[in-house]
Amino acid sequence: MRICYIAAMKYVYLDHAATTAVRPEVREAMAPYFDDRFGNPSSVHRWGRQAKNALEQARERVAAALGAKRREIVFTGGGTEADNIAVLGRWRALCDSGSASPICCSAIEHKAVLSAAKQCTREGGELIILGVDELGRVQTVAIDEAIRARPAIISVMWANNEVGTIQPIADIAARCQAAGVSFHTDAVQAFGKLRVRVDDVPCDLLSVSAHKVGGPKGTGALFIRGGVDVSALTHGGGQEREVRPGTENVACAVGFAIAAELAAAEQEHEAKRLAGLRDRLQQSLVENIPDLTVNAAGAERLPNILNVSIGGADQEALLIGLDLEGVAASGASACQSGAVTPSHVLAAMGRVRPGDATVRFSLGHTTTAEDIAVAMQAVPAVVRRIRAEVAA
Ligand code: PLP
Repeated sequence: MRICYIAAMKYVYLDHAATTAVRPEVREAMAPYFDDRFGNPSSVHRWGRQAKNALEQARERVAAALGAKRREIVFTGGGTEADNIAVLGRWRALCDSGSASPICCSAIEHKAVLSAAKQCTREGGELIILGVDELGRVQTVAIDEAIRARPAIISVMWANNEVGTIQPIADIAARCQAAGVSFHTDAVQAFGKLRVRVDDVPCDLLSVSAHKVGGPKGTGALFIRGGVDVSALTHGGGQEREVRPGTENVACAVGFAIAAELAAAEQEHEAKRLAGLRDRLQQSLVENIPDLTVNAAGAERLPNILNVSIGGADQEALLIGLDLEGVAASGASACQSGAVTPSHVLAAMGRVRPGDATVRFSLGHTTTAEDIAVAMQAVPAVVRRIRAEVAA
């Protein structure tokens, strides 16, 4: 009799910038709101009051995690909606009281901001795009120049989701504040990885998303500083200070509150731990894969993101090959209608090289040293195989 031992494959999830697993504490806190605590916060009876209390407690906790006041937090259906309300809603509110002013954002914003800004142009606004350097950094002189054009709002993300570059947000916000220009920052990727507090940074608006920090998908929040007026994009009942009407998603708000609290409490420790793991992976890939470039390597980066471009490797083949080896990562380009469009972020950085595969590894709460060891073995092996296939 022959006995075969088949080693169980270890699957490694290195795509936390795309989404994260819901944390057990979050799931547990949410469960009753799918069950007996199902009330509508607008109802006057006990079920309604119970739901309203839970919602307001959740708001208080998200506010505390961001250094905000309870009334400054509006729950949204995720980071995309928060960005849209911030950019388009603020721009419309300012234009309502005068003529259409320009809107300004960086070239490497998430599509949620870029598309909302483009909508402003369809409504008569001029769009000023701030370029970035080869490391993905917005220059403060560019901000000063943009301010001279008197935009209604400037939006610059706290940290980039593809390459991880961190922007000098406190400085940019202070310049906008001094000039009386509204400032929004998309902190969807920064929150939980960096210290993100609105009492440190004079921004008017800030977006966060629950599913990037172990919370539920389709839930986020927009911080709107007291006194800042924003037009609603949708219309209905008066919920969420009329900025985001509709029956509130109480379960998800409760879950987000727990996730946000944990993310803020663990941020400092997690940032150190993840940077250590990320640097180990980076060093190993640099040493073992010829013609590999680490994008934004010289910039201040999020501790959990490693973005590399690999010469002579097909991106789709690489990602599929990695998946077959048990490693989940993501590419930096979107395949639309069969054509691979280069990443707008790398394009803005001047880092698109035809024939390169670009891969983002993003670490998170559940990432272990063992996961990194698996990736350190798998990535060079898959790249070698793909290059050999191309050469054959
Ligand atoms: N902004 C950034 C920087 C992101 O990375 C994402 C999601 O990847 C979003 C906004 C959109 O957030 P959501 O998925 O919650 O709509």
